[in-house]
Amino acid sequence: MRQDFYDRIANTIADIREQGLEKVERQITSPQGPVIEVDHKGQKRKVLNFCANNYLGLADHPDIVKAAQDTMNDYGFGMASVRFICGTTDLHRKVEQEIADYLGYEDSILFAACFDANGGVFEPLLEAEDAIISDSLNHASIIDGVRLCKAKRYRFANSDMKDLRAQLEKADLEGARTKLIVTDGVFSMDGYIARLKEICALADEFGALVMVDDCHATGFMGPHGEGSPAHCGVARRIDILTGTLGKGLGGGMGGYICASKDVVHLLRNRARPYLFSNALTPALLGATLKTLELVREGAHLREQLFRNARRFREQMTKAGFDLLPGEHPIIPIMIYDARKAGEMAAALMEEGVYVTAFSYPVVPKEKARIRTQMCAAHTDEQVDEAVTAFVKVGKAIGVI
Ligand SMILES: *Cc1c(COP(=O)(O)O)cnc(C)c1O
Repeated sequence: MRQDFYDRIANTIADIREQGLEKVERQITSPQGPVIEVDHKGQKRKVLNFCANNYLGLADHPDIVKAAQDTMNDYGFGMASVRFICGTTDLHRKVEQEIADYLGYEDSILFAACFDANGGVFEPLLEAEDAIISDSLNHASIIDGVRLCKAKRYRFANSDMKDLRAQLEKADLEGARTKLIVTDGVFSMDGYIARLKEICALADEFGALVMVDDCHATGFMGPHGEGSPAHCGVARRIDILTGTLGKGLGGGMGGYICASKDVVHLLRNRARPYLFSNALTPALLGATLKTLELVREGAHLREQLFRNARRFREQMTKAGFDLLPGEHPIIPIMIYDARKAGEMAAALMEEGVYVTAFSYPVVPKEKARIRTQMCAAHTDEQVDEAVTAFVKVGKAIGVI
């Protein structure tokens, strides 16, 4: 009987491998950055990195590293407690207040990851008589969080405002008490920005609340990097904003929820991933305070990031590649055929450019792509180098 279980696991792994869906992790032997050292066929090799969420290039910033070291000297290594027992330092509250202040909210609450923030946000706030109306391409953590909540679930087709209206009408017809519209601020496979202005207008019309998961926008979208709501001109209209410290904001780890004082207070009392999980380490918090300072003063980083994105888009388009349109530093190069996309990523690695191919089920069938991500720490020359490698490989494989 026990052996059945282990056989089944082995079979599932064989299936995954057979379908070409097995994820193999490449080992990096340097800090995360625009250039990294990777283990390639048993040898260490320096490559240009175009697939990290390191949008502002802060992951290895010396001031942030120093802030982490200094804080560790002052506060030690671990908290060994959940927040409400003896795990809250002045740094935890400082970071929560700084995040809330930067993003324009009354308060915020930290989690071990945004996955936990999204997993824990719905259940304490909504009950069976309420409705969650969720975009079909929302992040896995939102899907899981919604599953853990008793509210009725409605799904609208990705960024389809006609369908969102239809689902809001349906929720009303079915007697929903509170309606919460939930969307990613940026959809990470496409780099498309949610239609937040229209979503908020519909929310107003139907008296609904709006929640945005802004993991792929905070720190660099919007005039001062406050994210996609500011970019879309609806910064003050979003009721609940979730985000991560693991992408633009330094790339360490941790998540947060911004909301009204009362909503945050209730979450502190009821959100299960908060109540039943260890407090963030002081070094991470000290580093985050420094990160927030650099991000708030980071107009030059945002400028470089978007300059890189424009430069890469322009040159790749000119070279004949098929790019998804937009302005976001996520730039997908459409290859369509999954095998070709995989071949292309492997060939680019040989040329010293690290990128990742995405295929089904992460993206729809026949929509395989190489998803590149720009970084503020890339120089113009490095962007050009990547384009040169793409052109060489693209011609060899017959993509252009
Ligand atoms: C990365 C991501 C998350 C998860 O964030 P972590 O802090 O890494 O757990 C959640 N939602 C979206 C949209 C993301 O892109």
